[in-house]
Amino acid sequence: MTNYKIYDPDTYITRDLWREVVANNDLRPVWAHIQAQKWQVSYEEYRAKCPIHCPCCNSELNYGIGRNNPNQGKNPENTPSTDHIIPRSIAPELEFGVIDNLQVICLWCNTLKNNTTFKDIPRVQGIIKLLENTQEQYEKLMLSKVLL
Ligand SMILES: [Zn+2]
Repeated sequence: MTNYKIYDPDTYITRDLWREVVANNDLRPVWAHIQAQKWQVSYEEYRAKCPIHCPCCNSELNYGIGRNNPNQGKNPENTPSTDHIIPRSIAPELEFGVIDNLQVICLWCNTLKNNTTFKDIPRVQGIIKLLENTQEQYEKLMLSKVLL
């Protein structure tokens, strides 16, 4: 990821953002700027919420946009995404302008979380149990395939 040393107006939006990226060797400002505009919250508050790793799965997030991240969207566990803590489907009034309802997690975890809330914890625990059984089943099936 060395392309960000070159100013590219399509990637950086403003020279100030580019300067911030180069000065701190950190790609988060541009991404945070775009997301803050999209969700109508302040840039500073949004930027403060951008972790290095996904808080759910600990994957390292790649905040590069455009030339700085040619794989954007191809590796969902490395692609940052804005999660609405209380999903938009449940509380559409919290969709825009409420920084406290936003967090940054990876796209893969966000896809899995989808419309769930704390009320779905028992359901999610049931899914985890199912997946643990899947793992046993997987190992059994793979072993039987190897032995055939
Ligand atoms: Zn994740």
